[in-house]
Amino acid sequence: MHVQEMTQEECIAIVSNGRMGNLACARDNRPYVVPIYYAFSENHLYSFSMPGQKVDWMRSNPHVCVQVDNFSDQGHWQSVVMYGLYHELPDIAGTKHEREHARFLLQQHANWWEPGGLKPTPQPMTAFPTHLFYRIAIESMTGRRSSER
Ligand SMILES: Cc1cc2nc3c(=O)[nH]c(=O)nc-3n(C[C@H](O)[C@H](O)[C@H](O)COP(=O)(O)OP(=O)(O)OC[C@H]3O[C@@H](n4cnc5c(N)ncnc54)[C@H](O)[C@@H]3O)c2cc1C
Repeated sequence: MHVQEMTQEECIAIVSNGRMGNLACARDNRPYVVPIYYAFSENHLYSFSMPGQKVDWMRSNPHVCVQVDNFSDQGHWQSVVMYGLYHELPDIAGTKHEREHARFLLQQHANWWEPGGLKPTPQPMTAFPTHLFYRIAIESMTGRRSSER
């Protein structure tokens, strides 16, 4: 097996056709990685979350990295790494339109809010929804894939 660089077009095809990525963020020199579902549109990844560690960390340091892959077996795979910036989309005038765009893209899948809207322990009931939408503006993207030669 050999490894080749992917073109930007090949990277975008993998990210567009994918749904799950590994989101890495960092705070106080400590990394944190969790799987998430996302939707890709015009150089942005959109996702949905409850409050928690990753949101706290991305609020304090918006620089993130997301890895998406398409793995069939050891000899057939593509992997894309994206560096980008976290930006929350609150339900207010300036971001309402993009928030609705994010919701529209994500809800193309049944039960799209699972498991991002669930936690292992019961969450406190509040008058306002605690879930949030965010985007990651992709700053750079690289891809590598297996090849036969
Ligand atoms: C296929 C898939 C898709 C998912 N899609 C989404 C999504 O779109 N949006 C979303 O917000 N979440 C999604 N999740 C869940 C996500 O991986 C996190 O578990 C969840 O978001 C909670 O993260 P948090 O930082 O708020 O953790 P908290 O509830 O704040 O908990 C923090 C601690 O819990 C542990 N922990 C948290 N998550 C995980 C995990 N996944 N595995 C092991 N330990 C963990 C860590 O040790 C961490 O220090 C998905 C998970 C899977 C498997």
